[in-house]
Amino acid sequence: MKKKIYDIIVVGSGLSSLSFIDSYLKKQKKIDVISFKKTKKSFSQINNKHILEILPPQMIGEEKQVLDYFSINKILIKKKTKFFGSLEFGGLSNYWGLQIDKNIKNDLQDFSKKTQKKILNSFKEIFKKQNLLGKINEKNQNLFERNPFINDEFLNKNKILKSDEPILAFQKKREKQKINLNLINEKKDSLTATNFFKKNLKNKRIIFHNYFVERIVKDKKNIILKCSNGSKNKSFTTKKLVLGCGTLITTKLIMDYLKIKTEIKINHHPRLFSLYFSKKKWTNKMNFQPSHFHLKLRKNPTLFTADFRPGNRLIIDAIIKFKRILSPFKPLLNFLREYFIFSNIFIHPRFSNLYIKKQKNIFIIYSKKKNQKNYFEKFGKIIFNFLKTSKKIFPLYINHFPGYGADFHYFGTFTMGISKKLHVNENCQLNKNKNIYIVDGSVLKFKSNKYPLGAIMANARRIGKEI
Ligand SMILES: Cc1cc2nc3c(=O)[nH]c(=O)nc-3n(C[C@H](O)[C@H](O)[C@H](O)COP(=O)(O)OP(=O)(O)OC[C@H]3O[C@@H](n4cnc5c(N)ncnc54)[C@H](O)[C@@H]3O)c2cc1C
Repeated sequence: MKKKIYDIIVVGSGLSSLSFIDSYLKKQKKIDVISFKKTKKSFSQINNKHILEILPPQMIGEEKQVLDYFSINKILIKKKTKFFGSLEFGGLSNYWGLQIDKNIKNDLQDFSKKTQKKILNSFKEIFKKQNLLGKINEKNQNLFERNPFINDEFLNKNKILKSDEPILAFQKKREKQKINLNLINEKKDSLTATNFFKKNLKNKRIIFHNYFVERIVKDKKNIILKCSNGSKNKSFTTKKLVLGCGTLITTKLIMDYLKIKTEIKINHHPRLFSLYFSKKKWTNKMNFQPSHFHLKLRKNPTLFTADFRPGNRLIIDAIIKFKRILSPFKPLLNFLREYFIFSNIFIHPRFSNLYIKKQKNIFIIYSKKKNQKNYFEKFGKIIFNFLKTSKKIFPLYINHFPGYGADFHYFGTFTMGISKKLHVNENCQLNKNKNIYIVDGSVLKFKSNKYPLGAIMANARRIGKEI
């Protein structure tokens, strides 16, 4: 029997792939996607259980999907290093914190003016089409009511820090008045991969193949994807391949394809968790409230970004999972949760410390001995001192560095446009392999933007129009 040759295959169903597909299907009639669904089947486990110690609160209950993701992709995470992924429709894009940095331009400076313009246009299209909350410019706004935890007057007077408003990825029809976040339906209105699919792609001709990709090989002008579903193997031959399986898996598949034996650095935003005790309740009805404002240094705004949210039951559950000793106090912690202010401080990728390398038949992820905690604590102290002078918190705080990789922002392994062996051109085509396109975070670097998914989606949308 003559083997079937597909015109194009996309791998992955996270928001990078789905954004690509959404614009690709404006002109084309159908597309094939390889994406594995949640399953009860057990896979032989590679022991990565230590990462579950700090499972993000949104992912509690999804431990199997996280462990399966690493087992089927044959990846071992070394002790002390953390890393997350999820093997299911939508991947990590089902759990993200729904905050986007609107200032995406700063990280596009290395690209041609034409490419910058196209990415910015796609970003605006996503903002408008998905009805996200926030403000890009006077014309593009869909405002939400901010909690007055810190008032603007106080912020504007501060000489060290400045504030910035994120875009919140809730899909809410534009209204004249500011949108009250308490009226958001988190299940339906969040821009998760599952909701994106339901709202934009449900009636389109997308053929999903329930497999995971094990290897990619070249076959003259075509690409063969060697896949499995855990019990059956299947190969797909395609003229064009689009990889959107998240930075880690895309990088791993390409390293294997190009037979790269040396280590590759994975860029990320090391993160510090901080807990403050507010004098006033931050009342809200959400299960998981995103930050309403971000703080950055005035003089060195790319060094870190801090966000703030009130405690919630999910965060309390995650803390108790991590510190069992607190379990008897759970009812009290829940009662006081709106007095707790949680902050993520995301730090510049020059502090990245994650590497991937092939070792025998598996890939290992590790971090190197590096003592950067003093820096992180210094950044934490700047934020604490600021909040203390605002007189909104009691003068005590807890800082915790959860480990390299526990920030969930992985990117910049084959940066676009920068001429190295491992790079893609501005059309996101792999060096010397023009029929392989990469549309996830692997091809971008986020020095300035600490909430990168909006820019990742915009870039993927751009490639979907051009391919
Ligand atoms: C708790 C949490 C909070 C976050 N908060 C934010 C935030 O506020 N702002 C922000 O910008 N970012 C945030 N992020 C990061 C953001 O979620 C990711 O950058 C984003 O989801 C990446 O999208 P993606 O489509 O590239 O990859 P993913 O969403 O990870 O999708 C990868 C896809 O590939 C599939 N896949 C994996 N392996 C294979 C294989 N071998 N074969 C076939 N398919 C495969 C997966 O099943 C999945 O469908 C957060 C992440 C987490 C976990």
